[in-house]
Amino acid sequence: MELQTETGCATSLEIRGPSTRAVHGGAERHNPYHAVVPPIVQTATYAFRDTADLIAFQEARQWGAAGGRVDYGRYGNPTVAALEARVAALEGAEAAAAFSSGMAAVTAILFASLRSGAHLIVTEDAYRRTRQFVLQFLRRFGVEATVVPIGDFEALEAAIRPNTRLIFTETPTNPYLRVMDLERLAEIARRRRIRTVVDATFATPINLRPLDYGIDLVIHSATKYLSGHNDVMAGVVAGSADLIAGLREMQAMIGGILDPHAAYLVLRGLKTLALRVHRQNENGMRVAEFLSAHPRIRRVWYPGLPSHPDHAVARRLMRGFGGVVTFEVAADREGTSRFIDALHIPYIAPSLGGVESLIEQPALMSYYEMDPEERSAIGITDNLVRLSLGIEDPDDLLADLEQALARLP
Ligand code: PLP
Repeated sequence: MELQTETGCATSLEIRGPSTRAVHGGAERHNPYHAVVPPIVQTATYAFRDTADLIAFQEARQWGAAGGRVDYGRYGNPTVAALEARVAALEGAEAAAAFSSGMAAVTAILFASLRSGAHLIVTEDAYRRTRQFVLQFLRRFGVEATVVPIGDFEALEAAIRPNTRLIFTETPTNPYLRVMDLERLAEIARRRRIRTVVDATFATPINLRPLDYGIDLVIHSATKYLSGHNDVMAGVVAGSADLIAGLREMQAMIGGILDPHAAYLVLRGLKTLALRVHRQNENGMRVAEFLSAHPRIRRVWYPGLPSHPDHAVARRLMRGFGGVVTFEVAADREGTSRFIDALHIPYIAPSLGGVESLIEQPALMSYYEMDPEERSAIGITDNLVRLSLGIEDPDDLLADLEQALARLP
């Protein structure tokens, strides 16, 4: 990435730091009205000066030379484009596309990559709605899927068929924070000419950049860390210019575009991404260590702990271990709820990645409609807790956990 000088000439300064990229990455130095911040361009359609201007635009578009100019809001927006450029800079990607939610991004990729008769591989522990879309919805359209456990590369290779088009994984996963060995995954997929997609919502580009390891596309629910304030829904995908162009074609048909106000909020949130994630990494590590040593906690999952099954992979691939800690309380369902209810700082809420800490008992939140046997078959026990740490001071968070745990018998 290069900075532009006042005169518009590229300087030789290469921006490497994630925080500088989060503030300046992909930015136009010159905004309308000399504004430092890109404006919110609130328009659904775009006008032409006259018919000659329209025809020149149509000709240029036909040859892919419209220079980002569009004629209608579903095909692009300058505020959204500013966000896309920032995300591409953060991920080290050629291009990025923004969507109205993380799920709009996930489904657009799957629609764009698969057709009837195709097969895909998805790893266990993927986001519940992604799994549902792949295993139930896509099946109705003749797309078959195989689920393989993260880290089992023999099972992954064995699952590959001649018609396998895509491998979809998440890292770290929810709720067990499993970390995929992306180098190994990319090597296998390249050899077999299969596209790889990684949902790195839990990682953020501050902790892990999947494209650096040879992955084709990275997805984020920008609702989480990228926007970071629990106040907006968005999704982004980054990758090669070719793949992103294909995705835009799909988006032009199925919709799911990001509103310019929402894009502005994500762009604003992104500026502090590195600062926030560094604090969240610190909070994650401090809380994971505290809980591991606590007699009223049965088990802790955090990739930064040597006890985590993927600690070695996480140390090799990640620059930080994230702000989510999952643990089992030494109590039954009601005791675990009493502990949660006794906390003062985290809100009881789904989602993660924002400045406010959020806590949930997955059995009573995302998995409530399942019966206990179904839940325990996928490892969701009644005493399981997922804590998404915000940017509060670690000592306050630890004191809050200590006082709530002290109430347990
Ligand atoms: N991917 C992951 C890992 C998630 O946790 C979520 C939502 O929780 C999504 C995708 C979907 O994102 P959104 O809620 O923005 O549609």
